This record gives sequence, C-alpha cells and structure tokens, in this order.
Amino acid sequence: MILERGVSLSKLTTIGTGGPASMLARPRSLDELGEALRHAAIEELDIVVVGLGSNLLVADEGVEALVIHLDGELATVDVRPPGLAAGGGATNAVCLHRARDAGLGGFEFACAIPGTVGGGVKMNAGAYGRDWSDIVARALVATADGADWVTLDQLALSYRRSALGPGAVVAGVELRLEPRPREEIKATVSELIAQRKATQPTNKRTFGSVFKNAPGELGAGRLLELCGLKGHRIGGAVISPMHANFIENADGATSSDCVALMVEARRRAHEQFGVVLEREVAFVGDLELP
Ligand SMILES: Cc1cc2nc3c(=O)[nH]c(=O)nc-3n(C[C@H](O)[C@H](O)[C@H](O)COP(=O)(O)OP(=O)(O)OC[C@H]3O[C@@H](n4cnc5c(N)ncnc54)[C@H](O)[C@@H]3O)c2cc1C
Repeated sequence: MILERGVSLSKLTTIGTGGPASMLARPRSLDELGEALRHAAIEELDIVVVGLGSNLLVADEGVEALVIHLDGELATVDVRPPGLAAGGGATNAVCLHRARDAGLGGFEFACAIPGTVGGGVKMNAGAYGRDWSDIVARALVATADGADWVTLDQLALSYRRSALGPGAVVAGVELRLEPRPREEIKATVSELIAQRKATQPTNKRTFGSVFKNAPGELGAGRLLELCGLKGHRIGGAVISPMHANFIENADGATSSDCVALMVEARRRAHEQFGVVLEREVAFVGDLELP
C-alpha cells in the first residue's frame, strides 16, 4: 500500500481548510487497513480517520499522524435484506440510493448528512429525531491488534458520541432497515431535503453544526442568532447568515479564522445566556478552544 506524504487535508474536508498530513493511507481492503494500522503502531504515529471530512476542522499547520481514508472494498455497499452491509468509507448518499432501490426504509433521515457510514457511527450522526443508534446492528472495528465485530451496546452511542477511541477505525457496518415502498422513501427524502435547503446553507462550504445543542429550549443556532452573530466575519470565515450554528468558508478561510469565530461565539453565548457551548466539530492537529 502506498503511503502518501504531505497531502493537504483541505482537499479531504468539506470546509476546505487545513494543512498537510505527515502521512496518508487509502486502504482498499481489511488487510491493507491492518497493515497501515500496524505501521502506525511501529512508528508510534497517531491515527486520524477522515471519512468525507464533513465534521472536521484540521489545523492550518497540518497534523503529525497517519491519516486513514477508507477506499475500495472498504467503501462499498451490499444489500442484505432487511438491511445493508457497508464499508466504513461508504457514503451515506450511496447507502441511501441502494436502500431506496431495494425498497428498504429507515435511512431517510440521513439524506442531508453528507458523511460516510463509519463517520456516522463515530459521531452518532442524526437528524429529525433519529440517529445511527436506531439503525446500526453491529460494526467491524479495526485497531493495530486486529478487527472485531462490536455490538450496538458496546458502541454506546449517545448524542453525537460513541465509545470508539482515537485509534479505532470503523471498517464495516451492518445496518438494520425495514421494507418500505420506494415511492414513499423518495417522497420523504424530497420533503426532508427541501426542509434543509430552506433552513441551512447546504450550497456553501461548511463542516456542519459547529456546536452541540445545550440542554434547554434554545438550540445552538437560535442562541447564537440571538447573540447577533449571523453574518459575523473573521478573515475568510463567516457565521452563516442563514443558520448561526454553521461557519461558511466565504473566501479563502483558514482553520484559525474558524476557531476565532468559535471562540467569539462561545464568549457571547456565555456572556448573554450563561451557556457553555460544547463543540460538535472534530478537531484534528493542534487546535484548541480556550
Ligand atoms: C452541510 C452539512 C450538514 C450536516 N448535517 C448534519 C446533521 O444533520 N446531523 C449530523 O449528525 N451531522 C451533520 N453534519 C456533520 C457530518 O456530516 C456528520 O457528523 C457525519 O457523520 C460525519 O461523517 P464523515 O464521514 O464526514 O466524518 P468526518 O467528518 O471525516 O470525521 C468526523 C469524526 O469521525 C471520525 N471518523 C470518520 N470516519 C471514521 C471511521 N471509519 N472510523 C472511525 N472514525 C471515523 C473522524 O476521525 C472524526 O473524529 C453535517 C455536515 C455538513 C457539511
């Protein structure tokens, strides 16, 4: 397997910021993934998995780690009624198409979540009152010591959290779905996508939700809107004028610009509402919210 050096991770993230990975592997099979993980263990390199990079902010200086991006067999989808067997690197979009064509429902909620199935497990991604914990049967998790199937209970999925540690790679996932007519699936998806387009900046470069919703009635977006932050700009990054819990790469943004906006948003939310916002976006490299 080829190990690439110095590849800019801005090409692998939806926000389009961030510096290079000291090493990048794109394993195409479980064997190649094992090889990459063992190599990292021998070289004492941290592991960072990048799926579709749709909830990631990478430091502008890059990251000293072996970055893993699943490809080939590890990004395929098979229909196994009443569900799907997907590689951890399979995109949600492909899973949804395969499920719809097979007349399998239950994955519609993910139609506007632009990630991979493995990233969905790690983040317990969700929308419209459902999340990965409703559909995962089990996941194949690889570490430098080998690969094992892990049950839903062991994954301990909760609001945008899982029990997976930093060196654990979701190589495969079995999803439990249920028979549903294709036309119904199509109709639900169209409705949810229209809803998204009306409320979120789906046509801009973002990394999805910046902060988790804090307990209470106000979602993070509404809270930041009430702080007057819509349209607030630092460098090339701007708090979305459409939805205040999104940061857009308006014009040559850096990750530092995004972090500076996050710091300002947290300061104002705390000052005006006494709320300490917890970030949802995953940080890669030397990034910190003071
Ligand atoms: C426009 C937009 C809308 C969004 N809407 C939603 C939404 O409604 N709900 C929601 O929950 N999220 C949403 N997101 C965020 C994001 O799409 C989800 O968190 C998604 O599940 C991340 O998947 P990914 O493959 O892109 O992971 P990445 O962003 O690449 O990585 C996220 C985290 O998962 C880890 N990871 C990725 N793949 C694996 C793997 N195979 N094994 C182990 N760890 C892995 C990474 O190391 C990182 O810690 C949105 C993002 C955008 C840009």
